[in-house]
Amino acid sequence: MLNVLPKLCSFKDFGVIYRLMVQFRFCLEKETAEGRVGSLETPHGKALTPLFMPVGSHGSVKALSPRELEELCVEVVLANAYHLYLRPGVEVIRDLGGLHAFMGWKGPILTDSGGYQIFSLCKLVRLMPEGVEFRSHLDGSLHLFTPERAIEVQEALGADIIMSLDVCLPYPSEKGRVQEAVELTTRWARRGKGARKGKAALFGIVQGGVFLDLRRKSAEALMEIGFDGYALGGLSVGEEKRQTWEVVEFTCGLLPQDQPRYLMGMGTPEDLVEGVRRGVDMFDCVLPTRCARTGELFTPWGKMNIKNARYARDPDPIDPGCDCYTCRHFSRAYLRHLFMARELLAYYLNTIHNLHYYLKLMREIRRALQEDRFEEFRREFYRLREEGATEVAP
Ligand SMILES: [Zn+2]
Repeated sequence: MLNVLPKLCSFKDFGVIYRLMVQFRFCLEKETAEGRVGSLETPHGKALTPLFMPVGSHGSVKALSPRELEELCVEVVLANAYHLYLRPGVEVIRDLGGLHAFMGWKGPILTDSGGYQIFSLCKLVRLMPEGVEFRSHLDGSLHLFTPERAIEVQEALGADIIMSLDVCLPYPSEKGRVQEAVELTTRWARRGKGARKGKAALFGIVQGGVFLDLRRKSAEALMEIGFDGYALGGLSVGEEKRQTWEVVEFTCGLLPQDQPRYLMGMGTPEDLVEGVRRGVDMFDCVLPTRCARTGELFTPWGKMNIKNARYARDPDPIDPGCDCYTCRHFSRAYLRHLFMARELLAYYLNTIHNLHYYLKLMREIRRALQEDRFEEFRREFYRLREEGATEVAP
């Protein structure tokens, strides 16, 4: 015992002990008709909600290192079990100390189970009661993902928040098929929960397409099984926006008040504002990082296309009101030049600005909710965008 004590007191061990002690916890600080404010506590740190999570499917938020993510105050990174399972392989990551150590990111990680990727990226997907068989989109090799395997993979990666394996259907799908998908998703969710061995928070995914009665059935069945949080899947897949928000509002109204709600894969700036207003706590989307790589930059007036010739001699920053590293140091003219010359720095600087815009937007949303002026904030948000539509960014 005497030999053990001094060892436990080292700084590194303190981190290990802290992670063993801290369980996942969601704390709802405030809820009004305009939205919710809260926080998530995970073994790798805390995150404030409403929360935007940048996507790092392959264990990297494209073009940035964890150092920039920390400087941008990113709180949670999303990684994808499907991609990492195929390459480099989950055993490789596990043997190298888990995904946090592998990618050098100290903060919380949420992993998606792979359901969505299997159904959207793979050819020859065979849905069976025991799981889903698919051919890798990389090399055509055959794999079977069961709900148990999906949990095992995510636990081996060491994620803080993991997702149940779900069935994702294309839109439109007949109601009968959607009902079958909901039933299978429910059975898989139950089996996945039974297979959980570690302490990662496990979220169930509500499916049901645009059918409100099926969304209710899915949400109620998942709540009966009991999860640490609930996600809304299968949205923004081609249905009308009006239907999307109807489903989000309806489903959020069914879910437990004291647990987090995560709207998967939806994240235009408008989506964040409208999702929060309907009771969503967590978002992820590839948009800020993907648009950065196509030269589309987010501003309060809408998206700016840096490729446009009008910026060739423009000395202003992307957004004079933005205090990100890119806007503090570089002109639109220089950013356009970098992009046209395909310089790698373009992707880095554009990504910094776009992620900064998203994270700042979430901070402003949180503050507006805390100060009971979200509707006012929302009106101003749309007013600036309407202005941008006629005038172009200043
Ligand atoms: Zn900026």
